Amino acid sequence: MFETLSDRLTSVFSSLRGKGRLSEEDINATSREIRLALLEADVALPVVREFIARIKERARGEEVSKALNPAQQVIKIVNEELVEILGGETRQIRFAKKPPTVIMLAGLQGAGKTTLAGKLARWLSAERNTPLLVAADLQRPNAVTQLQVVGERASTPVFAPEPGNGVGDPVEVARASIEHARHNNHNVVVIDTAGRLGVDSEMMQQAADIRDAVSPDEILFVVDAMIGQDAVNTAQAFLDGVGYDAVALTKLDGDARGGAALSIRHITGRPIMFASTGEKLDDFDLFHPDRMASRILDMGDVLTLIEQAQRTFDESEVEKMASTMASDDDFTLDDFLQQMSMVRKLGPIGNLLGMMPGMGQMREQIEGIDDKDIDRIQAVIQSMTPAERANPKIINGSRRLRIAKGSGREVSDVNGLVTRFFEAQKMMRKMKKGGGMDGMPGMPG
Ligand code: GDP
Repeated sequence: MFETLSDRLTSVFSSLRGKGRLSEEDINATSREIRLALLEADVALPVVREFIARIKERARGEEVSKALNPAQQVIKIVNEELVEILGGETRQIRFAKKPPTVIMLAGLQGAGKTTLAGKLARWLSAERNTPLLVAADLQRPNAVTQLQVVGERASTPVFAPEPGNGVGDPVEVARASIEHARHNNHNVVVIDTAGRLGVDSEMMQQAADIRDAVSPDEILFVVDAMIGQDAVNTAQAFLDGVGYDAVALTKLDGDARGGAALSIRHITGRPIMFASTGEKLDDFDLFHPDRMASRILDMGDVLTLIEQAQRTFDESEVEKMASTMASDDDFTLDDFLQQMSMVRKLGPIGNLLGMMPGMGQMREQIEGIDDKDIDRIQAVIQSMTPAERANPKIINGSRRLRIAKGSGREVSDVNGLVTRFFEAQKMMRKMKKGGGMDGMPGMPG
């Protein structure tokens, strides 16, 4: 799922690599590429239009941060817009004030409702609930048995019509299940309803009758992500026919292109609450728009890091750093110290320097340095004269002794620092000459 879209977007971003600023032409070209990628992923046209309009508007806007290069800025914007289109916040179940909470599942046959009922029961139990599964799909001959099998696997009781009593009335079964739950301390009731292969009015009516009989706290529309644009059409039909509060997307483990996931929220106005990602009962979780967006962009935690870096450093610091890196002046001990203090501010994520503009190649220099190290280095550097700081080559043996005394350190500390600095300086010179400032693994930057 999402592989093609991921690949396409990644290549869009890498074409921005090395750009110093975004021109109108860059924004247009990038938007065009993103548009194609979304259409190819089967995202509904109105969603694509809105998405692209937002990206363009924001990329042109003045929100650009000096801490990020243009490729990173675009990734950040696309990420945020993806989160938005996927629903923003993670949607949680709204539990009834007075139990039982009634959750009704609706959707086409084969969407994965029965499987989802079992998954939901297992998930609810893990969250300290005492669910009851209800077999209100009396259409398919095997449906009740199938739910009983699933219930057993999920260690959850199933409420079903007595065998031998004929087909039974699903509305009555649903109604009776609520009473049963109340008397048997089930705080959540999950009602599996009948589906058809296609949308039909009889099925809709039955679902609507069940809804009216039990007044569910949540109606979940269960839909197979593999059916792409059809998912959106079906979603609309169910919205008109039964109505629902949220969506459960199934078969996200398949090779669906992502269109359903990216379109449904926007088209129906209903959030995706659950994602089902396999046939096993544990392949199931709440749907997290932010994590899904990261997955689509193949970004992992890098975005969190970017934000953390933005929060940690003020612009003047970043600017100063950038100008040091860009200037023809040689890298000095003062610059060295500044770089290290910036890293220290990042705290434990300091070792993930790869995402910091221009600092990727400093990684080896800075790895393994802790706060005390930096304090020591700072003390030594501050005992030097400005001339020595600018050009440590002039520091001879007797000066090293004086500096060590002045900073309360050993001569070996001074020697170590000077050696380390020369290595960093060498690397800096190499970087400046090669123009390669973006040693950013995993980031098109
Ligand atoms: P229902 O007719 O809506 O109740 O659908 P079922 O629960 O019977 O599921 C139909 C088929 O889809 C079954 O073979 C399930 O094992 C399969 N299925 C359900 N959810 C998923 C999923 O998330 N991933 C995959 N790969 N298969 C699923």
